[in-house]
Amino acid sequence: MRVAIAGGGLAGLACAKYLIDAGHTPILLESRDVLGGLVAAWKDEDGDWYETGLHAFFGAYPNMLQLLEELGIRDRLQWKKHQLIFNQPDKPGTLSYFNVPDIPAPLNVIVSILCNNDMLTWEQKIRFAIGLLPAVIRGQTYVEEMDQYTMLEWLKRQGVDERVSTDVFIAASKALTFINPDQVSATILLTALNRFLQERYGSKIAFLDGSPTERLCQPIADYITQGGGEIHLNAPLKQIELNDDDTVQQFVIRGLNGQPDGSVMADAYVSAMSVDVIKVLLPDAWKQLEFFQKLDGLEGVPVINLHLWFDRKLTDIDQLLFSRSDLLSVYADMSNTCKEYANRDRSMLELVLAPAKDWIDKSDQDIIAATMEELKKLFPQHLCSENPAKLLKYKVVKTPRSVYTAIPGRQAHRPPQKRRSPTSTLQGVTPCNATWAVWKVPYFLVSWQRRQL
Ligand SMILES: Cc1cc2nc3c(=O)[nH]c(=O)nc-3n(C[C@H](O)[C@H](O)[C@H](O)COP(=O)(O)OP(=O)(O)OC[C@H]3O[C@@H](n4cnc5c(N)ncnc54)[C@H](O)[C@@H]3O)c2cc1C
Repeated sequence: MRVAIAGGGLAGLACAKYLIDAGHTPILLESRDVLGGLVAAWKDEDGDWYETGLHAFFGAYPNMLQLLEELGIRDRLQWKKHQLIFNQPDKPGTLSYFNVPDIPAPLNVIVSILCNNDMLTWEQKIRFAIGLLPAVIRGQTYVEEMDQYTMLEWLKRQGVDERVSTDVFIAASKALTFINPDQVSATILLTALNRFLQERYGSKIAFLDGSPTERLCQPIADYITQGGGEIHLNAPLKQIELNDDDTVQQFVIRGLNGQPDGSVMADAYVSAMSVDVIKVLLPDAWKQLEFFQKLDGLEGVPVINLHLWFDRKLTDIDQLLFSRSDLLSVYADMSNTCKEYANRDRSMLELVLAPAKDWIDKSDQDIIAATMEELKKLFPQHLCSENPAKLLKYKVVKTPRSVYTAIPGRQAHRPPQKRRSPTSTLQGVTPCNATWAVWKVPYFLVSWQRRQL
């Protein structure tokens, strides 16, 4: 079966890979000149990589790990010490560690929390543990029901001190969803917590050993083409053309640089584009279908990825850090964490700026100036001294609409990720029996593992 896939991000690439495994012929159509979507990366004029997003891989990513295993590239993940590290905004330049011992879950996580007294008092720990009990006992059903609340509302309902929210959940919320705890659905963070409590290495973090474009996307692309599939860059889907019975007749591909439009006919059609794009491209005849109407409730969230190259080392920490700053989310010194970006003498900080709603339209200079001010709190010893570290160059990558905005009530809007039966309403949208619907892979570890692909 020929399957046309629009979108060459990780969802589209993985979809094509598994279609090859199932004996089909995928035709992957990517609008840009680079694969990867939100993991795409580019080289600057000096040969240094910059990326759409700082990406960390967690132990709780079975689908992703399985994919890497099948491609024979699992050793490209550089696993870090099992710990989570937080900045302490009230003590500039200091860090707080959750060291997770190598003992079975959930004991390992519990011990790491009990041993950390910087961020939570004993009373807060006990209250939080009691608050978490329904999630632990009733599991994912309870967690899904909590989609009606923001994380902050949920914490209040459980009688948990609001400080726990500002101290701990601001970091987790921004890292997982690019929004704050007073906005994010409780389901997202509770799902993550549940996974961490269930899996011994669930919260263990790895970094890829180089750029995602070369080290992750390219091997998938090679697998696809070697298996008889096709990959077309600069091939934006322009229109989904329908037959009289509202099934897909063909994908119309926009011709670039004065070229005429083209078309792709297949036995089945997949959208692996972000939800914001498919909403625009939906044929009128499909807009009344409940399945597609639900997509109106989903919208991409803005985020900004920053790269700052300094004239010296700011830290030797080889790990992801949670800044707990209002402006920034997670960051890492990629000269320590990533083999291909390694530099013994100079730091390259990669940082996620979130929430980015108020920054996305600002100039790169303004964004970097604000970031440098924030970095003075994270690295006062290097940036506030008489001879401060010098910023050599920077790159700002803005994504106005990235993963869907995970506010309360969104779970009901997400397409179910299961094969549809021939009698379902969706049967009509393709001219064949098997309908694949691969949508935007929702952000971060838990969603990937539960929903992906
Ligand atoms: C700053 C940042 C940090 C992140 N950090 C993490 C992390 O640490 N861990 C984690 O698990 N996840 C992280 N994520 C999320 C992760 O990157 C995404 O969930 C994942 O890459 C989404 O993949 P996708 O294929 O579903 O969508 P996308 O990557 O958005 O792919 C969609 C593709 O469709 C293409 N497309 C769009 N329009 C058309 C068209 N008309 N025709 C053809 N193609 C089209 C796009 O160019 C793109 O390549 C992060 C994301 C960002 C932005």
